[in-house]
Amino acid sequence: MSDPQAHVVILGAGHAGGSVAALLRQYGHAGPITLVGEEPLPPYQRPPLSKAWLKGEADAESLALKPVEFYGEADIDFRPSTTAVALERSARRVKLSDGSSLAYDILIIATGARAIALPAPGADLKGVLFLRTAADAEALKAAVGPGRRLAIVGGGYIGLEAAASGRGLGAEVVVIEREARLLARVACEQLSSFFQRYHEERGVEFILGASVTGFQGENGHVTGVTLAAGRTIACDAVLVGVGAAPNDEIARDAGLECARGVVVDLAAKTSDPSIYAIGDVAHRPLPIYGRMFRLESVPNALEQAKQAACDITGRPAPAPEAPWFWSDQYDLKLQIAGLAFDADQVLLRGDPASNKFAVFHLKGGLVQAVEAVNAPPEFMAGRQFILNRKPVSAEKLADPSVSMKEVAA
Ligand SMILES: Cc1cc2nc3c(=O)[nH]c(=O)nc-3n(C[C@H](O)[C@H](O)[C@H](O)COP(=O)(O)OP(=O)(O)OC[C@H]3O[C@@H](n4cnc5c(N)ncnc54)[C@H](O)[C@@H]3O)c2cc1C
Repeated sequence: MSDPQAHVVILGAGHAGGSVAALLRQYGHAGPITLVGEEPLPPYQRPPLSKAWLKGEADAESLALKPVEFYGEADIDFRPSTTAVALERSARRVKLSDGSSLAYDILIIATGARAIALPAPGADLKGVLFLRTAADAEALKAAVGPGRRLAIVGGGYIGLEAAASGRGLGAEVVVIEREARLLARVACEQLSSFFQRYHEERGVEFILGASVTGFQGENGHVTGVTLAAGRTIACDAVLVGVGAAPNDEIARDAGLECARGVVVDLAAKTSDPSIYAIGDVAHRPLPIYGRMFRLESVPNALEQAKQAACDITGRPAPAPEAPWFWSDQYDLKLQIAGLAFDADQVLLRGDPASNKFAVFHLKGGLVQAVEAVNAPPEFMAGRQFILNRKPVSAEKLADPSVSMKEVAA
């Protein structure tokens, strides 16, 4: 039974936390809502931090999820620069960094994830940077410019987006990746080689299969990255982009069930019925794949915000969505839907040399995932195939002269 007067406390004022606060009001929740955020800013979008914003093509205001007045107008008690430090489930109370406590009827954990640090000597030198928050992005922007040399550790999406933006700002960019190929954890080989070529043609240098053992510096500032092979890569700044870890400690310490994040069901509810977890911090079911997984994407944060807001306000559960993600690099728009779990067939549609193609991953004739470069129709149809769970003709799918409409027919 939903309680329209319940006090909902949201920990984390990021994409998921900000969205669920707004949705609760939109869905008619009348009780108090408190939004506790560690950062000084109201909820903002992170994707532009490595893209338009880093290149100077978007201003700070355009990052905000909602205008700052929204929170007052919607009667949401937004508490910036405040960290939740402990959760007392038996008393339904959260301890905050300012020494106060906050009682809740319903708690939503939306604490996101943090950039993983490299535990290597010199990692604390000035100029060794991360990219998770607006403050991180400010520091990176200040370090990148014409003629400056940026070393990026990690050839994942954030590393590659920062490489593209860095080149746009006139910096020299070298990307150091431990695996033998770029995007090794998150994309197929065709995509890895395509993106490598595209970046190389635009002046990015790659060092693959190389482990970083430390950072060198002068006067407290980084001057180089040392590799296991003994080689040192000179630089003026380093961006460490080696992945993110969930901020789930508060839930773990309070005894909530956790795996690769806080375990939730399809209503985003944790093992405690009065606590939800949403966004990057949640380890969630993926009904299409019959698996649990932790996703790091804006669409996931929004989907789970909807799941929690519907459950709290007594609305019917929203229909399951196919997970999706995007990445912008130079003039390329990569859109990915689904996850290529256990795929037994990989189909290329179009020619990567034309910078417009898609890779479909199938299992038993069903589309599991699509990776589409500058190919929105393939992405949109692929997303629908993933949801429909109906076999498609592999022959038609691989033939770009057959429209996606015909493939779907
Ligand atoms: C540079 C960058 C580029 C990205 N690009 C894309 C993209 O192109 N497409 C895409 O789909 N996704 C992208 N993402 C991922 C996307 O931004 C995240 O999946 C999304 O922000 C997750 O939302 P969230 O609310 O779960 O976490 P976050 O947005 O990280 O918000 C969590 C908030 O909780 C706060 N917090 C943590 N612990 C506490 C605590 N104890 N008390 C109070 N507050 C706390 C944090 O400070 C943070 O403000 C990108 C991420 C980054 C960093």
